[in-house]
Amino acid sequence: MSKPHIVWLRRDLRLADQAAFHAAAALGPVIPVYVLDDETPRHRRMGAASRWWLHHSLEALAKELEAQGSRLILRRGKAADVLAALTQETGAGAIHALRHVEPWWRMAEKELAKAVDLRLYDGLYLLPPGSLRTGGGTPYKIFTPFKNALMDAIGDVDVLPAPKLSAPESWPVSDKLSDWALLPTKPDWAGGFHEAWTPGSAAALARMEAFKAILGPYRQDREMPSIDGTSRLSPHLHFGEVSPRQLWHAIAGMEGQGPGFFKAELIWRDYAANLVQQFPDYGARSYRDGYDDGLWRNPDTDDSAAADLAAWQQGRTGYPIVDAGMRQLWHTGWMHNRVRMIAASFLVKHLLIDWRQGEAWFWDTLVDADYPSNATNWQWVSGTGVDSNMFVRIMAPLSQSEKFDAGAYIRQWVPELAKLSDPYVHDPESFHCRPRDYPAPVIGHREGRERALAAYKAMKG
Ligand code: FAD
Repeated sequence: MSKPHIVWLRRDLRLADQAAFHAAAALGPVIPVYVLDDETPRHRRMGAASRWWLHHSLEALAKELEAQGSRLILRRGKAADVLAALTQETGAGAIHALRHVEPWWRMAEKELAKAVDLRLYDGLYLLPPGSLRTGGGTPYKIFTPFKNALMDAIGDVDVLPAPKLSAPESWPVSDKLSDWALLPTKPDWAGGFHEAWTPGSAAALARMEAFKAILGPYRQDREMPSIDGTSRLSPHLHFGEVSPRQLWHAIAGMEGQGPGFFKAELIWRDYAANLVQQFPDYGARSYRDGYDDGLWRNPDTDDSAAADLAAWQQGRTGYPIVDAGMRQLWHTGWMHNRVRMIAASFLVKHLLIDWRQGEAWFWDTLVDADYPSNATNWQWVSGTGVDSNMFVRIMAPLSQSEKFDAGAYIRQWVPELAKLSDPYVHDPESFHCRPRDYPAPVIGHREGRERALAAYKAMKG
């Protein structure tokens, strides 16, 4: 029998349109392996919400593999060491994997390639990060030219079918998923997650099919938190249960603004990876100089900043739209994009707290927590990124709430305000109808704005 080939899985947990599976299956029996790696140094350990998703996603993939006589082997430890040892143990011919852009995975790939025959393929993005270049030969920094270049380059998109896998003569031992303790127990805070999500490839494809029915008005509806108008595919995309090229392929031929705007959102995801390819520490420091020293109030040394950060995290800022978003996040592991922008801007500008505090909270609580997308969006909102909104353009959360008709959304997520109708629900403080059990605003809009502008001016010297 020919040598087995290992497929190393990370956030590419699918069989279809997965080039590593495809290549390995063509060469011999396949050993699919997931390594839970908390040891390779990384910007932050995988968050709790991601661990919940990972558990269910691995379970779904294992079932899919078992249905065709294969298995998912689970191991724990430093990925490069574990995989090198497993290659020896199984006599595998090579390891096949999709190329990842996160700096810690790039480091692990480099290390592993020194020890074994590691074959890397593209497949996490529409096009390989770093492959698009400006006329001057440099990678893109600004979104719109990047998007135009991608639209020009992508052409017709084909996707790979799921391969038929054959089993090795003997299987290496596997950890038990339940021993990894990825799920919360005391307390089990994931009740709302179960209601909101079904991880796994089959559920991702079903969600895409359902979304096609509401893609027509996506351009307008995606801005409205009270409407279920977006795909909610982000965690499925993050874990690679579906590839962006599969989504692109699925809507090929659909006409209109809805599909066009949806494609543009998928391109934002590629754009974020393209930035992290260029600036690996984009999630750890402000791209623009000066912002990391002196601008922010520091919750580690300033009690009032610590209290404000806690109020933001718990959804008790007294700004209904912000609180609704933060509570949706806590309850379901996801927040509407418009509200992410409002809540992030509020933390960074009204509360003058470093975006990295917000990035860390999102990292722990989002089921779609994604190093490139989280970093790029936080830096964009904060005005610290390569291509970003200016710091001095300060979003007004109360008028954003009215403009995007968030009344029903607030009533859903902030029960203290469930009885308030529009327009009162957007700003109960100014209308003098704030219920006693709902907090007063942690800071007034004008006061927050002026403090942010003064701090910015002082930073600029
Ligand atoms: P849809 O509107 O259906 O969009 C389809 C897909 O396009 C999304 O699933 C996502 O993969 C991609 N996409 C859409 N908008 C963006 C964007 N602005 N940047 C990058 N990709 C995008 N998205 C993440 O996937 N992970 C994160 O950690 C993350 N952190 C964010 C932090 C902040 C402060 C902000 C403002 C946005 C963040 N986003 C992040 C982007 C965006 O909010 C989510 O991708 C989107 O809300 C997911 O919902 P959806 O799948 O219904 O999106």
